[in-house]
Amino acid sequence: MKAAFDGAFADCAIAYSYKTNAAKCITTTLCDVGLHAEVVSGPEIRLAVTDGYTPERMFFDGPLKTLDELQLAVNLGVRIQLDSAAEAEEITTVAKRSDRPARISLRGSVRRRFGWSRFGFMPNEILPIADSLARQGLCVSGFHFNLGTNQLSPKRYGAVLRSWQSEVVALMKHCRNQDRFVIDIGGGFPARSAGPNIDIPPWEDFAGAAREAVDAMGIIDDITLVAEPGRSLVEDHGYVIYGVVAQKRRRNRRLLIVDSSGLLVSSRGSWFHPVHVSPAGPTRYDIYGSGCFEGDAIAKSARGPAHIAVGQRIILGSAGGYDIASARGWNRPLPAVWVHKSGELQQVDPRTVFNEYRILDGAGDIGEERPITGLSDRPWLS
Ligand SMILES: *Cc1c(COP(=O)(O)O)cnc(C)c1O
Repeated sequence: MKAAFDGAFADCAIAYSYKTNAAKCITTTLCDVGLHAEVVSGPEIRLAVTDGYTPERMFFDGPLKTLDELQLAVNLGVRIQLDSAAEAEEITTVAKRSDRPARISLRGSVRRRFGWSRFGFMPNEILPIADSLARQGLCVSGFHFNLGTNQLSPKRYGAVLRSWQSEVVALMKHCRNQDRFVIDIGGGFPARSAGPNIDIPPWEDFAGAAREAVDAMGIIDDITLVAEPGRSLVEDHGYVIYGVVAQKRRRNRRLLIVDSSGLLVSSRGSWFHPVHVSPAGPTRYDIYGSGCFEGDAIAKSARGPAHIAVGQRIILGSAGGYDIASARGWNRPLPAVWVHKSGELQQVDPRTVFNEYRILDGAGDIGEERPITGLSDRPWLS
């Protein structure tokens, strides 16, 4: 991906989306190979700092940025990609308390099948927001959008850029003497979960579509192009390995019950996950998880051998993005995690995989009541 974008843009950055899978073995490896980081919360900013990303290599996105988080981002020098007018107002308060200039991009909405996305600003809002920030002494030096995930058409990236062309060019005129202008085309690049029989276009097609649209604006030498992949980098490299604990018959169906839940793979209903029962065979099995509810289904009609023993392994693929990050054990602990790195399998501390900050930042120790940080400055949320 880096080679394709480096080939298309003189100045570009690939920022990995932390929320896709913040396992330390992934985020530190990507840091070492020169990627940047896309973060959507204060805890993710802190994780990225700990992993070695410098603030110039971070992009702060998302629909909720608390005052504390905005202050942290400004103080460090992290680029903030604003999502709403309320956030634009808050950044002016925060910026006054810092001696660093705030690095600000505006997120533009995109048209989805169901209409305009709820994220970002509408086309008629962008320039008035930039004007009002300018009156507060704040300069907008970037434009951002995010198409939504598993996009199989590179052309969509070019089409969105073209639809925002006049606003982007106007924003650039706004802020000439500051940072290089950033055009951030977000994530959405596909993985195998997009469907069972799909062709994933090569990276060159995505980079080329973006390049063509930016080139048509006449600004290609003046901008830094940023892409924010998540799913496309990690999803197809993660697997859940279940073991069979029982088999049953229900009329003409054969059922397998396995040793963990389908809740480990929360996207199993909406995205495609290949299920391998090996060796392959002609017999069809319905595979159910360990959850104590009727619908804990993992696969319907998966093919396998005629005879299956307790302990047989069943492998579910494309689980390395979002699913691990949102896995639930519910009535059992989450399973052990192994990482294949440098030719070796290593067991890793599950807290570095299952987003320990989900626990650390909110609730405190069991039995102890602590205020949830960040809500105090927004009373209407509490
Ligand atoms: C989630 C997210 C990404 C990553 O999206 P993928 O579809 O996984 O590539 C990138 N940018 C933003 C703003 C996001 O919210």
